[in-house]
Amino acid sequence: MPERGLLIVFSGPSGVGKGTVRAKIFENENNFDYSVSMTTRPQRPGEVDGKDYYFRTREEFEEMIRKGEMLEYAEYVGNYYGTPLTYVNQTLDEGKDVFLEIEVQGALQVKEKVPDGVFIFLTPPDLEELRGRLVGRGTDSAEVINNRMKKAKEEIRLMSEYDYAVVNDKVELAAERVIKIIEAEHYRVDRVMERYAHMIDKLDENI
Ligand code: 5GP
Repeated sequence: MPERGLLIVFSGPSGVGKGTVRAKIFENENNFDYSVSMTTRPQRPGEVDGKDYYFRTREEFEEMIRKGEMLEYAEYVGNYYGTPLTYVNQTLDEGKDVFLEIEVQGALQVKEKVPDGVFIFLTPPDLEELRGRLVGRGTDSAEVINNRMKKAKEEIRLMSEYDYAVVNDKVELAAERVIKIIEAEHYRVDRVMERYAHMIDKLDENI
């Protein structure tokens, strides 16, 4: 049986640019697969069902939750978002790494269930810059922006739950840092040692 792949959880406060960095990471060939999330939010123009998200009704989503078919899920701005369990398990069993891009509440649930996952937190260079980005989008009122900033503050405090913090000063640089972290994680002694412990046991039988 192949060695189980790594579960990589990539998250960060809202507005930090997770989606953009993730897209950059997946522009090139990688040794990890992206887990397509399920959501109840309406499909945006240009989005493809099964590629960007699995777009489902609330009833369908709640049925998945009831059957225990979600690794994690969260309600975010009035819609459900979640990670279907089957794909993640199958891919990890095949020995491939799986990459999740999810918000903070979901990431904390994954940490409970898969403590040996790799938890990467994307941070804004500073909070005023994050506010600037939200204002720049031009889609939210001042009140909404203040609420989002309040939420971002709470979310940034949760950085302590993660293994790595990557600053999103430049998309290309942030993407590169994430790829390097994933590569290095494969060389951690506690991961490699398991394989050697097995080999040593086998050797002991013969000598
Ligand atoms: P959007 O609606 O802009 O595509 O995504 C909104 C938020 O939901 C983003 O912060 C994104 O990271 C998060 N998200 C996407 N998929 C999942 C998922 O499967 N689980 C959780 N918990 N959050 C997700």
